Amino acid sequence: MSKNFVERDFCIVGAGFAGLTAALRLTQAGHSVVVVEARDRIGGKVWTKYLDDGTPIDLGGTFLGPSQERIYSLLKELDLDITPTPIHGDSLLVYKGEYYRYGEEVPEVDSESLDGVWDTLQKLSKMSLEVPNDAPWTCAKAQEWDSMSLGQFLNDPAHNLGKPALAMLRILFIGLFTVELSEISLLYVLFQIAASGNDIELQMKVEGGAEQDMVKGGMITVAEKMREKIEELNKENLKKNLRENLEGSSKESCDWLLLSSPVRQITQDDTSVTVTSDKATIKAKRVVVAVPPNLANDIDYIPLLPSTRMELLRHMPAGQCTKFITVYSEPFWRKRGLSGEVTAPDEFIQMTLDTSPPGEGVGVLMSFAFSKEAMQLAEMPAETRYKHVITAMAKRFGLEAVKPIHYFEYDWSKDRWTRGCHVAHLAPGVMTSYGHVIRQPFGLIHWATSESSPLWNGNIDGAVRAGEYVARELIG
Ligand SMILES: Cc1cc2nc3c(=O)[nH]c(=O)nc-3n(C[C@H](O)[C@H](O)[C@H](O)COP(=O)(O)OP(=O)(O)OC[C@H]3O[C@@H](n4cnc5c(N)ncnc54)[C@H](O)[C@@H]3O)c2cc1C
Repeated sequence: MSKNFVERDFCIVGAGFAGLTAALRLTQAGHSVVVVEARDRIGGKVWTKYLDDGTPIDLGGTFLGPSQERIYSLLKELDLDITPTPIHGDSLLVYKGEYYRYGEEVPEVDSESLDGVWDTLQKLSKMSLEVPNDAPWTCAKAQEWDSMSLGQFLNDPAHNLGKPALAMLRILFIGLFTVELSEISLLYVLFQIAASGNDIELQMKVEGGAEQDMVKGGMITVAEKMREKIEELNKENLKKNLRENLEGSSKESCDWLLLSSPVRQITQDDTSVTVTSDKATIKAKRVVVAVPPNLANDIDYIPLLPSTRMELLRHMPAGQCTKFITVYSEPFWRKRGLSGEVTAPDEFIQMTLDTSPPGEGVGVLMSFAFSKEAMQLAEMPAETRYKHVITAMAKRFGLEAVKPIHYFEYDWSKDRWTRGCHVAHLAPGVMTSYGHVIRQPFGLIHWATSESSPLWNGNIDGAVRAGEYVARELIG
């Protein structure tokens, strides 16, 4: 039972980047807010841990890149710096147990060409030009493209893709969507490409792409800085407009941020919403639900949500991704002329990148397992999983990789308040049936997560954009 009662202009459910950005923009516009968060921390899918020497280890969202203007602008506003993702030297492609070292050009493998890969990516990018990123369901070919999965499209014999090319395309796309290509609609994928500048390669590249930069000090510093700003501004706004019922409330209920307080119910009438969470009941003029679609559906809405919204939320699951971080006393792979970047389509550990901090110091390799491989690893005992990671690192970079000084792994699909990542995906038929309600408010309930952004959907920049969009919607 909630024991505290708080009254504010706006209530925001979820302290991820979308929720925090909305709170920041609303407090900057002079409104009082309360943000209610289920976890005992802010940041949502962004989560940074620190080594004793202060080296940040980003277990969730990490990278930023060109055209992600809103997050770069927020960094500037918050006085935070970026550092380029290190990529000096050759990359590796691992396929059928062979190690192919390359510079600019991805090599041929298994005496079959990978050419079809780049042609297909370009073809998809071109097709995305026909998809309006703010209303993909209105595209002339929406029905046709939403009736098939990306897997069906790629397997069409007309594309003449050999096994290595299909394996490469699978890894590139599951790296983005964390599910099998048979589970995602072609229209949804084209929308995602349109939402990131109509060039799918942008999403996959380090230099000049979405993995180009990292935030100095770790991505969570952005959330912490937003928290400081909101704190300051909200106090001023409250002083101006104190409407709190303090009867029976603790000091905590006066804060703008309630942590460890999952929202269970949202009730609305014609004039206000009542949000029931574990620590407080909040009355507000409007509420923003800034929690991932699969979790938004767990909240009890009174009255019930319209059927289309309910179906949309039900049909937006998120995939599987586990991150593995191995830390070494130095980035020793660079001495061998290796960049640390690895793509391994048929291995458990499918991608690796160098995410070492700038300057001299520790070497940090960030690796990923996606989709089926992530699920298979999750079912193994922790020691077996560790062995897989370390063996992969040793084969890729040499025996020095056998003994990391620190090891982290995080399976986001097992996180109670994420349950899948990086982004909710849409199966065939979902976009054209329910997609149009994605940003549609229901009475006094508004929606904002990275999934609701027409640009950089599923990325941190998309979350910031969604927060800013909903704040504008509320302010009018
Ligand atoms: C492993 C991983 C790697 C990624 N890498 C990148 C990257 O390199 N670059 C990039 O741009 N993006 C990346 N992303 C995606 C990016 O992190 C997300 O798109 C972004 O952080 C989403 O923000 P959000 O606010 O929309 O949602 P979330 O971060 O999910 O925030 C939602 C918040 O709601 C809370 N919540 C849920 N249910 C309730 C409830 N009932 N009551 C109260 N609170 C609730 C959650 O605890 C959470 O804090 C990555 C994600 C993951 C998981």
